[in-house]
Amino acid sequence: MTAPETHSFQAEVSRVLHLVVNSLYSNKEIFLRELVSNASDAIDRLRISALTDDSLLGDGDEFAIRVWADADARKLFIEDNGSGMTHDELIKNLGTIAHSGSQKFMQALEQKNDEAALIGQFGVGFYAAFLVADSVEVVSRAAGHEDAWRWVSDAQESFTLEPAERDGRGTTITLHLGEDHSEYLSFWSLRALIAKYSDYVRHPILLGDMRPMPAEDDASDDDEDDDSDDDAKTEDEEPRLSLQFETVNQGSALWQRSKDEITDEEYTEFYKHLSHDFEGPRCWTHFRIEGKQLFSGLLYVPSRPPFDLYHRDSKRGVRLFVNRVFIMEDAEELVPSWLRFIKGVIDSDDLPLNVSRELLQDGKVTKVIRKQVIKKTLDELARLAEDDDESYLAFWKAFGPVVKEGLYLDRDQAKRIGKLLRYRSSAVDGLTSLDGYVERMKEGQEAIYYALGESETAVAGSPHLEALKAKSYEVLYMTDPVDEWAIEGLGTWDDKDLVSAMQANLEIDSDEDADEDAEKDKPAYEGLFETMQGVLDENVREVRVSKRLTDSPVCLVVPEGGQHAYLERLMRNHDQSMPKTKRILEVNGQHPLIANLRKLHDNEPGSDRVKEWTEILYDQALLLEGSPVEDPARLARRMTTLLQAASATALEEAP
Ligand code: ADP
Repeated sequence: MTAPETHSFQAEVSRVLHLVVNSLYSNKEIFLRELVSNASDAIDRLRISALTDDSLLGDGDEFAIRVWADADARKLFIEDNGSGMTHDELIKNLGTIAHSGSQKFMQALEQKNDEAALIGQFGVGFYAAFLVADSVEVVSRAAGHEDAWRWVSDAQESFTLEPAERDGRGTTITLHLGEDHSEYLSFWSLRALIAKYSDYVRHPILLGDMRPMPAEDDASDDDEDDDSDDDAKTEDEEPRLSLQFETVNQGSALWQRSKDEITDEEYTEFYKHLSHDFEGPRCWTHFRIEGKQLFSGLLYVPSRPPFDLYHRDSKRGVRLFVNRVFIMEDAEELVPSWLRFIKGVIDSDDLPLNVSRELLQDGKVTKVIRKQVIKKTLDELARLAEDDDESYLAFWKAFGPVVKEGLYLDRDQAKRIGKLLRYRSSAVDGLTSLDGYVERMKEGQEAIYYALGESETAVAGSPHLEALKAKSYEVLYMTDPVDEWAIEGLGTWDDKDLVSAMQANLEIDSDEDADEDAEKDKPAYEGLFETMQGVLDENVREVRVSKRLTDSPVCLVVPEGGQHAYLERLMRNHDQSMPKTKRILEVNGQHPLIANLRKLHDNEPGSDRVKEWTEILYDQALLLEGSPVEDPARLARRMTTLLQAASATALEEAP
């Protein structure tokens, strides 16, 4: 017999193993849920492959998951007759992190130390076995293959693989339980665990127990499994015990049961089973649609975002069933990408059993289902917002930016999504809805104003808001990268335009005073502006008098159709070749500094000082909108010179 092959775990696996064991020690019992759920998935996978190749099934038994313990040997077995794994699949699935988002996960791990939170987002899976087992043995034979393989590991650095014997396809996992974990050797505690975590698993879970053989010649013998009693009665006979199995899960499709028969705990456990989330869901909606299409749905909003929420290849979508038969994982056609965090089940009465992704992509049924998924989810979120402000805001913090994508991807949902929007604002602590804003609008105020930028601090201090503040108009602070597109998708709210405080054509109502001031200032500044334009020509398309500034001397505004500076920066981070939008430099004609600069310009039009100060003002405007200045050293030098002069004057004036 050849020696077993030894393989090292991928470095990431060792870390995940370590994480699992260390962060879940207080919740060890979930290991059974994870292994049973893997077994159930393996059966589903086989059933689906068998739709196109029924030779895979062979003449095997009915699908089932078997669980039993051997107390003397301290072993617990979990067995399925599902897809099984080949030699190479064992290495890949149990020796590497096969998840598409693994890279992201490891990055998240590097950045964050909150291991418990991360493991929850990641899902624990097979490695949970090591919560209770000192070593784990997996014997597996892939459907359609003759050879079986034994995988063994004690969760250190490596595992071994060697040929094994197995009757028929499937996988048997043997856990060698550690000293502290004897409870998992008892029939009754295993039974309780399965009822708690895996009742809804759709394949029968057969739990084994050593019981007296059903006696053939002694029909009166009741099924009493009291060993000592047996021993006493039949001294000359061996107690004839054998492993007998009984089905211990209900296996009923939770979503097909009526709502008032289902407890919150059952809903929560089902969610954990579906999502592998360690934490329960934030809320859920359970419905039956009986229109032209018949289908049921049970959709959950998770409590926390998964680590790969913004990852392009992240799994998304809900599980699709047809008449209670599992069809596919992650049916993304049924859920728009802006609700990609939703977990759950859709069970259609109308789709064919062999429905393919292609068929789903442009099917009529898909459209109807998708519409209802959107409606039911948004209704549930609106209900949450109404009933439980705190919980809703936690939801919004986690998923708000994703929901906002819906404003431009599904414009016909704008009204519904609009109700859910929450923003920071100049007028209230915390977050406000658009309706809240509208209620607070001042008399005469015609539009809803917002400002875009990196952070609340950056936006709140921005000079662009000065005129709005002077009028006590509220400004919404939009600090998500998606906000600009989202707002464009929304267009108006309650018949009021949404207006950016940073946009060139900002008209604050019909503000005649400001208009007049601006007109009055114009001729006096023409010469200065021409010089400034000359100095800044490369970066600025126009220098003009501002109507929006009251305290600051200058600011940069976005020309019509141009990109906000903040977004342009974000996009240039991805793509350096993005052209820069030349912006408009607005100058506050009422500001003493500008008035002085004008006088100076009248005296010495082309002087270096005028040029230099123009550049300083421009740099200042860049800083205020959060953009980097081109030559920070030059700005610092100039500031030093100016401060030096100012300090000398201050000393001269001092008594
Ligand atoms: P996950 O189930 O989240 O993908 P796991 O770590 O639990 O992650 O399992 C990794 C992979 O190993 C699974 O995706 C599956 O391909 C395979 N696997 C686990 N258990 C079984 C089983 N009982 N039968 C067949 N394949 C299995």
